[in-house]
Amino acid sequence: MLLQETGSSVGEGSHPEEIVAWMLSRFAGQRLVLTTSFGMEGCVLVDMVARHGQPIPVVYLDTGFFFPETYRLRDRMVARYPQLRFENRGTSLTPEQQEARFGPELWRRDPDFCCRLRRVDPMRQALAGEDAWASGLMRSQSTSRAGIRVVDWDSQYQLMKVSPLAGWDRQQVWDYVRRHDVPYNELHERGYPTVGCTHCTAPVEGAGPASYTRIGRWAGTGKTECGLHEVEGLRSKDRQTETSDPTTFDVCLRP
Ligand code: SF4
Repeated sequence: MLLQETGSSVGEGSHPEEIVAWMLSRFAGQRLVLTTSFGMEGCVLVDMVARHGQPIPVVYLDTGFFFPETYRLRDRMVARYPQLRFENRGTSLTPEQQEARFGPELWRRDPDFCCRLRRVDPMRQALAGEDAWASGLMRSQSTSRAGIRVVDWDSQYQLMKVSPLAGWDRQQVWDYVRRHDVPYNELHERGYPTVGCTHCTAPVEGAGPASYTRIGRWAGTGKTECGLHEVEGLRSKDRQTETSDPTTFDVCLRP
């Protein structure tokens, strides 16, 4: 049997803060988790959620290849938002064990497999049993993310996915950061529009904190996504969210 909710007061065009308030109300009493890789968008979403004072878990995956600046940001976020529960759910496979089992520099030879080991599989474990997942994805981030909806069914991890920032762009995120003094990665001011693993992230000439591009990620490999977000292929037959009215959500949850 499907549970159906109609008449929601938010929709695709709603302000992210309204969507966050709706999300916390809609999934109250259920297992809702927020994930972040400590990108600027994720930090903004954490700030929006934290304002409601609920002890929502904030899951991150320490790949073992974070920049020192990212660890410093993580520590600042934990100190800034004590009402939230930050949890590292990264792999227990150390870089040394990975090299012993799969050879040196796996990220160069097979970055998809490396991402699967260090990101996708740990995320699958972290999201198992959860009802809803909040992420900081935006449609403006790339063409492959252009079809993201605010509320959708994630068939990869089998739960509802909410992307409150879906309609925003980096300039709006940066404006929010400055308005609310949200912590952010200092690398954004040194030419890194996005920050992932040390081995797979390069600075982009001329990029500032208000500009977003993914060309510094896995540069020269053709890879553009780590695989955490099934941004393509989520459409049509697997979708369990139908929006008959484009301004409101009509959410069908799994049995
Ligand atoms: S981003 Fe690079 S180093 Fe990090 S998990 Fe993926 S391939 Fe491995």
